[in-house]
Amino acid sequence: MKYQQLFSNRVAVLGTMHQKERAIAPILEKELGIKVIVPDNFNTDIFGTFSREIKRPGTQIITARLKAQKALDITGETLAIASEGSFAPHPAVPYLYCNKEIVILIDKDNDLEIIGEEFSLETNFNHQVVENLQQAREFALKVGFPEHGLVVWFEKSEGNSNEIIKGITTETKLVEAINLSLENSTTVHIETDMRAIYNPTRMKNIEKATSDLLTKIKTLCPNCSTPGFAITERIQGLPCEICFTPTTLTRSVIYQCKKCGFRQEKLFPNDREFADPGQCMYCNP
Ligand SMILES: [Zn+2]
Ligand SMILES: [Zn+2]
Repeated sequence: MKYQQLFSNRVAVLGTMHQKERAIAPILEKELGIKVIVPDNFNTDIFGTFSREIKRPGTQIITARLKAQKALDITGETLAIASEGSFAPHPAVPYLYCNKEIVILIDKDNDLEIIGEEFSLETNFNHQVVENLQQAREFALKVGFPEHGLVVWFEKSEGNSNEIIKGITTETKLVEAINLSLENSTTVHIETDMRAIYNPTRMKNIEKATSDLLTKIKTLCPNCSTPGFAITERIQGLPCEICFTPTTLTRSVIYQCKKCGFRQEKLFPNDREFADPGQCMYCNP
């Protein structure tokens, strides 16, 4: 297989400071024959933090690309991996959040950029304003503490800055953080720590995005055999089972090669030729 010849025995530098190698390295090392290394003191906080002290420089993909590029710059290697996550309210269901994880692979030798993705409803992403320790404990219980870490913060009375306490993973630290906050402010913010090392649920999603990356690496362009022959477009219009009216469900997907531009349409990617009438605007308006 060509993808193994491309990657076998190469060093891949992973731009992370939150131990994402635990999710990413085992899969890629085994399947691609690469050696994953993490640079010492790699600071990804300059690319944005979840606790909002530093804003992200661009979109999720741009940010992941910048991290990978920095990892290449400081090590002089030619193969890099980076990941970036985002969390947002579910578009249709109130109070439900979703997590999108991407893992990017950049190969300068072969001029490749391949991106794995995972879109998941499995996340404990949440925040709340609390007024006492009891409320903080209830929140902690709900979001899977202490396996999942917490962040506590409050607005300082003098100046406009916030005091932020991150990586809380013990009952003692939680009590300390809440008490310190209540001494300084009447409103205390408590939220989930979304850094991968403090969040096993997120780590799982990064693992799934890595598996998606691997699937894409293994999918070669039928025309030029370049890895990363992936879906670039989804075309809706899957017909209703009863009246055959096109619905908004996906009827076909377009695969496209970034290198040679070769395109291929795949009909019925979900192995269904018709949509459930429940999705039809005529049968179920
Ligand atoms: Zn091609
Ligand atoms: Zn219909």
